[in-house]
Amino acid sequence: MKVVCDQDACTGHGRCYTLAPDIFEPDDRGHCVVLVDELTPETENDARTAAANCPEHALSIE
Ligand code: SF4
Repeated sequence: MKVVCDQDACTGHGRCYTLAPDIFEPDDRGHCVVLVDELTPETENDARTAAANCPEHALSIE
């Protein structure tokens, strides 16, 4: 499984990389960059928490 960020939807609230800094980091505009190619059972839980807390619904688990 992987987490994907829709860059057209992301507006840089930063909740994803605040909640899950092992999975996401900000780019120079504060928008989301996904750091990992594949989610582990442990990181999948954190990725789902970040996705649920993204105000723009920009994150999806595939
Ligand atoms: S929480 Fe959502 S809108 Fe904010 S930086 Fe992360 S993906 Fe983008």
